[in-house]
Amino acid sequence: MSDRPKIRLYVDQPLGQGQTVDLSREQANYLFNVMRLGQGAEVALFNGQAGEWAAVVVEAGKRGGVLRCDRQTAPLLLPPDLWLLFAPIKKARTDFIVEKAVEMGAAHIVPVQTEFTNAERIRQDRLQAHAVEAAEQCGGTFVPEVADLHRLDVVLSDWPAERRLIFADEGAVGQSALLPDRVEDVGSWAILIGPEGGFSSAERVRLHGLSFVCPISLGPRILRADTAAVAALTLFQTHLGDWR
Ligand code: SAM
Repeated sequence: MSDRPKIRLYVDQPLGQGQTVDLSREQANYLFNVMRLGQGAEVALFNGQAGEWAAVVVEAGKRGGVLRCDRQTAPLLLPPDLWLLFAPIKKARTDFIVEKAVEMGAAHIVPVQTEFTNAERIRQDRLQAHAVEAAEQCGGTFVPEVADLHRLDVVLSDWPAERRLIFADEGAVGQSALLPDRVEDVGSWAILIGPEGGFSSAERVRLHGLSFVCPISLGPRILRADTAAVAALTLFQTHLGDWR
């Protein structure tokens, strides 16, 4: 670990021994103007597929630059097969949920529009950029994809076989926060967190009637949606994920 350069950069380019990587104008500005790196400095690169590589600055310009991969410093570490479905809330809190989902180890992030969701659209590109930044900051070697906004009813109708859905149900507040007994084997999972207004009665009835849904309580208090997302991710990672 001590061998890993501190400054990390996600690049959408192949990485491997001796591989050169061209920097965009923004990346060059960040490395050479903001971080004040020069030729010979080392940067940790990852592309979500090839682990992390220490790369040396071979050209440092105002509008671009070139790095060369020297050695692999970490293998690719994939998160558990866990999706986070959440109803977008206010901008800063939605950004927070995406950032925390990456840090906590979600493999895929799906904003969903529920009956009480205020947002009708999201800036998917901005949320994806947040996911990249979070992966750079937390030492991750994988960046989950942030999907565009999908309607919850459509997502449930098209639900993939074998994937189970942990439904954070504010109607179960005060019950035990433990995952149900049958939730014991690892496999494909998702977590669903509702918006500030919670789920509608019709949504709750539908969710309770679906065989792949496991409703859970997150304790005796109503949590804000962003807190609920972190709490549910913690519960999952502790019982079924990569914290065990
Ligand atoms: N307005 C709703 C109410 O008063 O019942 C609360 C919604 S809460 C702010 C947002 C979401 O976080 C909920 O839809 C649920 O998914 C989750 N949540 C919050 N606290 C929870 C708890 N104690 N148990 C289960 N889920 C919870």
